[in-house]
Amino acid sequence: MTRKRSFNELYPTNEDYSRFDQRDSAFGQRIRKTGRMLNYNTEEYRTRRILKKIPGFSLVDYAFKDAAGMYETLPWEDWVMDKGFYSWRPLGVARKLEGVPRWKGSPEEAARLIMKAAKYFGAVSVGFCELDRRWVYTHSRYGREIVFEDVEEGYTTEDKAVIPESHRWVIAITVPMEYRENSYAPTALEVTSNMGYSRMHILAGYVAEFIRGLGYHAVPTGNDTALSVPIAIQAGLGHLGRHGRLITWRRGSLVRILKVFTDLPLPSSPMAPEGIMEFCDVCKKCAKHCPAGSIPDGPRTWSGSSDANNPGALKWYCDAEKCLAYWDEVGSGCSICFRVCNFTKEEGVIHDIVKWFIRNVPQLNRLWVWADELLGYGKMSNPEKYWEEE
Ligand code: SF4
Ligand code: SF4
Repeated sequence: MTRKRSFNELYPTNEDYSRFDQRDSAFGQRIRKTGRMLNYNTEEYRTRRILKKIPGFSLVDYAFKDAAGMYETLPWEDWVMDKGFYSWRPLGVARKLEGVPRWKGSPEEAARLIMKAAKYFGAVSVGFCELDRRWVYTHSRYGREIVFEDVEEGYTTEDKAVIPESHRWVIAITVPMEYRENSYAPTALEVTSNMGYSRMHILAGYVAEFIRGLGYHAVPTGNDTALSVPIAIQAGLGHLGRHGRLITWRRGSLVRILKVFTDLPLPSSPMAPEGIMEFCDVCKKCAKHCPAGSIPDGPRTWSGSSDANNPGALKWYCDAEKCLAYWDEVGSGCSICFRVCNFTKEEGVIHDIVKWFIRNVPQLNRLWVWADELLGYGKMSNPEKYWEEE
C-alpha cells in the first residue's frame, strides 16, 4: 500500500463533532448515577467470588491485580488528574538551574532527546504532534471544566483545569501490556491493564520532570484530560481498531497510552504505515467474540447508538455502557477484545512477515483472518494453571 493519507483523511470529523464531556463517558455516567465507577470491585462482591472458588478470582489473583494497579487504584479523587506523578506542577526533582539558560535546540533535536529518554524510562513507542483541541475534554469525569489560559504553568482547582495556551505540542507514549497475562482475560489474572496504568503514571512523571529540567513546562496525563486514541494516531503511533482501541504495528492492541502536553517545540511525527483499518474492515473477530455485543460489525459510521458516544467522527462506535455492564457481570475488566484481536501476537519473524503482507498486499487479508481462526489464536488461558507456570 503506497498511499499516505493525512490524519484528517484517516480520522475525519464533521460539523456534528464537538469536544466531548468526559462526564458523558460510560464511567462518567456511572459516577453520576451511583457515585462509583465499578460495581465489581466492592469488598462484598470480591469476598463472594473468592469464597466460591471461581478460577481466576482467588485471594492470590486479586492481590496480584491490585498490586499491579498500585498507581491506578490509589483512592485519589477525580481519577488521577494532577495527582501523584501526574502533577501539573513541577515535582522539583529535575530543576533547571537559575544561572543557566534553558536548553535550546531545534524541534527535531528536542524530539530526539524526548524519544531517547522516554524509551529508557520504559516507553514502547513515542510520537509527537501539535495539540489538536478537538480531543481535549470539555470537563473531567468529575466535572472540572478544562480550559486554556495565557498562563505559564498548568494548574487545577476544584472547578477547573487550566492548560497553558503555550502548550501547543503533545508527546504520545505507549507502555506495554503482556501477551501472556492478557490471555487470562476476563479474570483478575488479567493484570496487564492495571500494570499498564501504573507504568503510564510513573513514565508520565519521568518525562514531565525531564522536560522541566530542560527549562520548559509539562502537563502529564493518563486517561484524563483528552482522548488518547486520536492523539496517538495523530502522533503516528498506530491506527484505530474496530474495537475502538489503538492498534500498533509492533504490539497490536497490547499497549496503554499516556500524553504529555508541553511548551517545548516539537515536530509532527509521520503517520504510521496504513493497512490496519483495512484489515479491520474484513476481520470482525472482536465483534464476533465481544460478549456484550458492544463492538459493531459493519463499516465505520459518523455516530453510535449509546449515550456514551460522541458523534461526528468517522470511526467504529463501541457501546461502552454495554461493555461496562459486562464487566460487572464477569467481575473484572473484560479485555476479551484485546485478547482475541488478530494483531495481538507475540513478537516474532513469522508475524512480522504477515504484517508486511497486511501493509502491502491487502488482497490477502481474508486469508490471515482465516488462518488466525484455524490456528486458534486468542483463546483464553486456564487461570487454574497460572501460578504453576514458570
Ligand atoms: S472489553 Fe469485553 S465487553 Fe468491552 S468491548 Fe471489549 S470484548 Fe466487549
Ligand atoms: S479483532 Fe480484527 S477487527 Fe477487531 S480490532 Fe482486531 S484486527 Fe480489527
